[in-house]
Amino acid sequence: MIWDGYPFERYVYMVHATNGARGATEHLNSTVIQLPRFNFREREDYLRFISTASHEFIHTWNVKAYRPEGLVPYDYQNENMSELLWVAEGSTSYFQNQLLLRAGVITAKEFFKDLSQRVVLNQQNPGRDTQSVAEASLGQWSSTWGDYAVNHSVNIYSEGYLASMALDFSVIQESELAHSYRDVHKALYQNFKIPMGYNVEDVQNILTTLTGKDYQPWWQEFVNQPFSLDFDQLLSQAGLITTYGDKPKSKVDTGMGLSGLHNDLILATVAKNGSSLASWIKCGR
Ligand SMILES: [Zn+2]
Repeated sequence: MIWDGYPFERYVYMVHATNGARGATEHLNSTVIQLPRFNFREREDYLRFISTASHEFIHTWNVKAYRPEGLVPYDYQNENMSELLWVAEGSTSYFQNQLLLRAGVITAKEFFKDLSQRVVLNQQNPGRDTQSVAEASLGQWSSTWGDYAVNHSVNIYSEGYLASMALDFSVIQESELAHSYRDVHKALYQNFKIPMGYNVEDVQNILTTLTGKDYQPWWQEFVNQPFSLDFDQLLSQAGLITTYGDKPKSKVDTGMGLSGLHNDLILATVAKNGSSLASWIKCGR
């Protein structure tokens, strides 16, 4: 248990297993999840569903019970700006499979497969050199498509997951195993329940209380500017060894993003430093 308490008496999952609908939304004591009706059969599909179910459940605390001050109260007419959306979403993603692993719902192998896919995605994302998680949080309301999305931005979910993991390892190390990032969220739940909101300084103060360390330098390196994680070094602290496995795999990545439009095939995006031609091509059928 992360938070020492429940912000609800009864929690309801509303699952619409149907056609043509996807997505999920968190509420104060429930969630609504839409997914294709046959996504409970294959293990891979089921894992996606159960991860989403865990993600939305964690939102009951992280986002619904306590949230960044830019989101309190919700303004339904305007953008709700916050440089902490990576905590709201990325940290929720960071915890979602941990809870499933601890509950015995997924296996350790499945947990680490998800983690390894996140590491690979990070390494292949050209935008990780350009945008910080703080900027991505503020930019969540602006356009996130085309060249900007592919080459110059990061995702608050996936990059926020990795920033949360880096912070977790830091807290564990700095507190000499006495605390972890979970204790940050326990403190946020205990001290900043809505209608309060928390800000960057509040999070840094919690970190200092837990570790005795000034976290502004860490914040500058991993939150306010694009971060580059040494995954080999980081994961080795948990006794994990990164490897490409024994079986050789061949995969071609051209860096091209294609889409169809009026029976034409459009080269919509070209990854920065990718291997495809850095020009716009339109191929008629
Ligand atoms: Zn979410």
